[in-house]
Amino acid sequence: MRVTDLSRLAAAELDRLVKGGKPRKKPFAVKDNIATKNHFTTSGSKILQKYQSPFEATVVDQLRNPKSNPKNGKVVLGKTNLDEFGMGSHSTNSFFGPVLGMSPLRRHSVGGSSGGSAMAVVTGECGFALGTDTGGSVRLPAAYTGIFGFKPSYGRISRWGVIPYANSLDTVGVLGTSAQSILETLTPEVMYSESRDPTSLGAKSLYRMRNERKVLAISSGRVHRNEGVGQYLQTNFRRLKIGIPMEYNIAELDPAVREEWRHALNLFQERGCTLVPVSLPNTKHALSAYYIIAAAEAASNLAKYDGVRYGTRADSSDGAGNVLYSRTRGEGLGDEVKRRILLGSYTLSSKAIDNYFIKAQKVRRLVQRDFDRVFALPNLLRYQEQFNLSDMAETVPMEDKKGPPQVDFIVCPTSPTLPPTRNVVQKQSSVETYMNDVFTVPSSLAGLPAISIPFKLPGKQPGFAGIQIIGQFSDDYRLLLTASALA
Ligand code: GLN
Repeated sequence: MRVTDLSRLAAAELDRLVKGGKPRKKPFAVKDNIATKNHFTTSGSKILQKYQSPFEATVVDQLRNPKSNPKNGKVVLGKTNLDEFGMGSHSTNSFFGPVLGMSPLRRHSVGGSSGGSAMAVVTGECGFALGTDTGGSVRLPAAYTGIFGFKPSYGRISRWGVIPYANSLDTVGVLGTSAQSILETLTPEVMYSESRDPTSLGAKSLYRMRNERKVLAISSGRVHRNEGVGQYLQTNFRRLKIGIPMEYNIAELDPAVREEWRHALNLFQERGCTLVPVSLPNTKHALSAYYIIAAAEAASNLAKYDGVRYGTRADSSDGAGNVLYSRTRGEGLGDEVKRRILLGSYTLSSKAIDNYFIKAQKVRRLVQRDFDRVFALPNLLRYQEQFNLSDMAETVPMEDKKGPPQVDFIVCPTSPTLPPTRNVVQKQSSVETYMNDVFTVPSSLAGLPAISIPFKLPGKQPGFAGIQIIGQFSDDYRLLLTASALA
């Protein structure tokens, strides 16, 4: 792991943590775009290299000082390296240098942008690590390093104190060595976030989902954990319907990844699940829509790093601020970030907005609708009448739910290929790099929960492609329970 901030304070925290050789509290690592009080929060950028947040992100505070059970408090071990502002898929776009992998994949990409968090877990330095997932940044590193990476439904974990990349897509995720360990981290306190993040979902709206309530009872310990989970799974695995999205079986899919996918599906079938093919026809447009929306939101978000409001100021000025702005941004931001700002500013310009940004928003709706059509559970956000959610505007006609098969989860690969070497990554064009996210961005556009789990083919080395399970919006706990029972 390359920790961006091994400050004196972090070292002191480590001392407090290890007493008599044994960790007193469970340590966790935090991706460096999530604000913590005692460290720098750099977002992997030169422009924020000396930034120290005056406050802590809600999610970090909830984990360090849980109000419901203070004894359960955890401690921040350190901050982890990332692609600058979360923009990248290989953790190679950081001002602090790339995140390096470990044998047998020392020369390979560890995935991105939460590659530092993934390696902190892989090396055993912490029990779990926080990452952020805008279009796959928790799931891809988890897949490439052979661990578990969970991205919750949009709005479930507070984003307050998280440096935004693309607000409508950003989520805080967790990386760990098992789905069970992730499940234990995500206490109801963390999963029912709070009002300082205006996009966070309150407990009230989520309680309205019957299933959620039942599963919550198990995970919060109101039903005895073992008995509850066991019972839940015994009854549930046999009832589960798993969707195999036909559009994900693309020509570019590495045969080894396809084999892992087949193996994962067999495992579900052995447990008694029914497998059904499903169609998500708008998948092919999701990647382009994602890169238009994410870049547009990023261009707007990053405007504040001008050396006046935020960011290390370049030492030059013409008095009017023009040179100050361009120098500060020119020197302080990396190439990929600049590329996204230019792309985003263009797609938002009056000349291009109709053809790009507005079209991408329409595609996003279609992608969401594809998922809503195939999931058996209705989308909490869109079935306003059924759930009496007066604050949620849109409804989808009920007839949409009649045609295609109704499934509980969708299972597909996390990445179309095995991890490439960093050499190969270096030679890739940015568009080739973007292609890597083809399987992770659809669920991000739809705000759905998804987990990447490592699969080892019998008698073979671990595959490092990762298999993704995607659930309906707000079905997070059931997704995690199913994943933990599978492993
Ligand atoms: N690779 C994607 C991007 O660069 C996803 C990044 C993320 O999820 N933060 O936008």
